[in-house]
Amino acid sequence: MMATRSARSPVVLSDGMGVDSTGMLIGLRDRGIIPDLILFANTVDEKQVTYDYVPIRQKWLADNGFPPLTIVQNMRPRSGDGSLSDACLRTKVLPALAYGRHQCSMVWKIVPQEKFVKTWAPAVEAWRDGLTVTKLIGYDAGPRDSARCAAALGKDSPGYTNRFPLVEWGWDRERCVEAIIAEGLPVPAKSACFHCPASTKAEILWLRDNEPEKYERALHMERNAADKLLRVKGLGRKFSWADI
Ligand code: SF4
Repeated sequence: MMATRSARSPVVLSDGMGVDSTGMLIGLRDRGIIPDLILFANTVDEKQVTYDYVPIRQKWLADNGFPPLTIVQNMRPRSGDGSLSDACLRTKVLPALAYGRHQCSMVWKIVPQEKFVKTWAPAVEAWRDGLTVTKLIGYDAGPRDSARCAAALGKDSPGYTNRFPLVEWGWDRERCVEAIIAEGLPVPAKSACFHCPASTKAEILWLRDNEPEKYERALHMERNAADKLLRVKGLGRKFSWADI
């Protein structure tokens, strides 16, 4: 079981605005653990349904005595790219995950959060005192996330100690959904870029039917990257979204 933080070691929660993050926040509240900083990395390419959840999150945080969400964003003044999809369209490639790499989440999610924390006084003070910042990550205790958690063990960024509360509590995604419903909150949609190569076919069809402009932009990204598909067939890696 996770211990409450010491007075000098700040706790940062990385909020993906999805089911796991929401469950993690409820579980922390129930255990009397309040993070010092809650970060949401905005790729500007989230689905609208995720952005619509932000005010719900902010209200819940305020009602429960948590700090408000701090929204960080990858600024690209040199290239002028306002989003990951802008960057992909300009360079005529797909998001890195389509090629089996993880730079897209590194550049658009992890780095903006770490950049912010570098300037955040409690972290600066902790590092000056030789402490680490505790980062709470919402991997759940289901088989897929447990594997991701196992792969991440021992790979904390310098100055950080990563913790995976849902794994420590044995909370899988279903348990998080239960907690969210019991809390009286709407169950959030899966949070990911609208063009994420990890999207299932059902999620792609959902996007087509519910957020058609973003769906069309994803198809445009796929056509635009036609010359750089390498060994992949399209945004779905083994299939083209256009073929669904
Ligand atoms: S949600 Fe998907 S496309 Fe977006 S940064 Fe993460 S892996 Fe890349």
